[in-house]
Amino acid sequence: MLVDNYARRFTYLRLSVTEACNFRCNYCLPDGTDCSSSKRAGELTLDEIRRLVTAFAQLGTKKVRITGGEPSLRRDLCDIIATCKAVPGIDTVALTTNGYRLLQDVSAWKAAGLDALNVSIDSLEAARFKMITGHDKLQKILDGLKLAEELNISKIKINSVLMRHFNEDALDDFLALVHSRPFTLRFIELMRTNDNHDFFDHHHLSGSMIEHELLARGWQERERHQHAGPAREFHHPDSRGGIGLIMPYSKDFCASCNRLRVSSDGKLFLCLFADEHQSLREHLQTDNPLPLINYLHSAIGGKAATHYLHQQNSGSTRQLAMIGG
Ligand code: SAM
Repeated sequence: MLVDNYARRFTYLRLSVTEACNFRCNYCLPDGTDCSSSKRAGELTLDEIRRLVTAFAQLGTKKVRITGGEPSLRRDLCDIIATCKAVPGIDTVALTTNGYRLLQDVSAWKAAGLDALNVSIDSLEAARFKMITGHDKLQKILDGLKLAEELNISKIKINSVLMRHFNEDALDDFLALVHSRPFTLRFIELMRTNDNHDFFDHHHLSGSMIEHELLARGWQERERHQHAGPAREFHHPDSRGGIGLIMPYSKDFCASCNRLRVSSDGKLFLCLFADEHQSLREHLQTDNPLPLINYLHSAIGGKAATHYLHQQNSGSTRQLAMIGG
């Protein structure tokens, strides 16, 4: 079991499989990224992913989330899902995607073993969605979401970054969506990264305004399990789906941290906003997991108690596409 100096247990691995993204979200990659194969040459291979997940699983990891960049840009995504799913000890394989390929690919992802799906949708108004992401794809993504529901993917979440002037008034739209659909819609507070200082200053909004609104409308907060992550979840007797809040600027947010991250080129991120990252790649070249297990045991002691976002310190994180949020 991986336990740090603050008694936090790490059972959740967020694995980025590419830094490339085809969207140009205004808070993340407003100018897009280079998606060329030469730029992507250093991405972890399937064998490296299998060895990585095997070592984490032997240390108690139960859940792997595949993220990016945009993970559906990996042509071998189904193989990656199946590989993670086949590792003994892994009970949940989840995917975070912008939904661009959902309609075409979700059946294959499910067949490969996908258990849970997060789709990022920052607005349910087509024009605003395009303004935020640079793509006029809202309807196609919603069609993909419907198909995912029909396929009975049991855990479907929608991620929406809360932003002043873009979606601060979107609560009613999202409540209408989850009213009859089995999704959890999660508002994520905009986080400051090294590339979005100005955007952050203009658009950051505390999730507490959503919390107050929900409580005023009769929503109730769910009790959190002992080792649940930092998201807070709300439910309402009249609504099939739920609402979540991820508030990284709130007090004690990091106390419930249960996740570690690995970048698409195999670097360990002890925190989303750490300064330095160690490459695990040398430990991924043989099927013997012990060197990596030993390394992770010693590295976990270096995990800081909290991030330093309140001090306007985003570590070395330029934007979240480089590690997957
Ligand atoms: N491309 C995938 C997607 O769109 O979901 C996975 C990668 S994306 C970086 C993962 C999540 O991080 C998305 O929900 C995105 O909206 C969120 N995100 C990106 N930058 C963020 C920021 N500065 N603050 C808060 N959330 C952010």
